[in-house]
Amino acid sequence: MRCPRCNTENDNRTVCSKCGYFLYRANEQNRKKMTKSQRAAEDAKTVGKRAGRIFKIVWIIVTIIVLSAWLVLGMVALTGLLGK
Ligand SMILES: [Zn+2]
Repeated sequence: MRCPRCNTENDNRTVCSKCGYFLYRANEQNRKKMTKSQRAAEDAKTVGKRAGRIFKIVWIIVTIIVLSAWLVLGMVALTGLLGK
């Protein structure tokens, strides 16, 4: 990537090696060149990450409920056996 300020060639650097100019803006321009399908894929990735996080939390809650239900059932069974 060529620095827009001093015209120095900086391969994949984010900051110019000569003048320290941030080359992030050029990266943003590259991002805008992404096609709609590519952008949709990127959005799906971030949504997927969020969904995965929510799914994890839901999974933990379900596991806790199931485990506590099993514990309660076990306790009921034990007290029933002891009561006999
Ligand atoms: Zn520069």
